[in-house]
Amino acid sequence: TGDPACYVPDAADVAAWWPRPTADDNKYSRGVVGVATGSDEYPGAAVLSVAGALAGPAGLVRYAGGAAPLVRTQHPTVIASDRVADAGRVQAWTCGSGMGTDERAYAELRTVLGAPVPACLDASALTLLVDARMADWLRDRDAPTVVTPHDGEFQRLAGGAPGDDRMAAAAHLAERIDCVVLLKGNRTIVATPDGRVYVNPTGTPALATGGTGDVLAGLLGSLLAAGLPAEQAAVGAAFTHGLAGRLAATTGPVTAADVATHLREAVSTLHH
Ligand code: AMP
Ligand code: MG
Repeated sequence: TGDPACYVPDAADVAAWWPRPTADDNKYSRGVVGVATGSDEYPGAAVLSVAGALAGPAGLVRYAGGAAPLVRTQHPTVIASDRVADAGRVQAWTCGSGMGTDERAYAELRTVLGAPVPACLDASALTLLVDARMADWLRDRDAPTVVTPHDGEFQRLAGGAPGDDRMAAAAHLAERIDCVVLLKGNRTIVATPDGRVYVNPTGTPALATGGTGDVLAGLLGSLLAAGLPAEQAAVGAAFTHGLAGRLAATTGPVTAADVATHLREAVSTLHH
């Protein structure tokens, strides 16, 4: 059928990649992740994406955006500022969840794209990428970029729905925009610009609830900040996010906050 080669990761794969602190580490050497998400209108997306980032392997989470007061209250360990430019040094950015598409969001995404560090772009950031200048700034980047669209966001970004052949659609977009594409769904697909495709086996429909994508974006940013290549960060984030959804679902209906809570347990089960 002309399908690209497809890999199904297992727990041993993800465990082998997952960054672990060593005796010589400090919070900075473990990686600092910047989270540019949320807004006055969607402050919860900031709280959830930061919760995802805090569950990952990075040593420090910095938040920048319109929900800084709420993030300080909900996550006292996070250093929060209003703007990306004021956030200080980070090793990766995750940007877009609940950020909106106003002028401020446009400027913030531009700053993130201009930073010479890996980035995960989600939600509003994907809508903003339809702008031709923004697409140019994405193209000008040297650092790796992961985009995490659901079907509607994919359609805007790619100019057409994924269709029946989701692997081919994701692979085509990855090659065209030179980014790792994580196409969300029941079986989340990760496609790389150089033609590798992964299908995540851990998904659960329990994740079909508001805010779970924000948690995924935060976690993915943390993995990038910890130094994982974009491909492994995307596959590892989807895998553990699915496991966390399954763990959360054992006790009843799942909220996105439950998924974030269960990420730590999901990571610990990788090693069994
Ligand atoms: P978002 O649409 O950005 O909130 O992200 C939703 C998250 O839930 C993604 O991680 C999806 O892969 C996951 N998800 C949504 N629907 C399903 C489903 N039917 N089965 C498994 N995972 C799903
Ligand atoms: Mg989303």
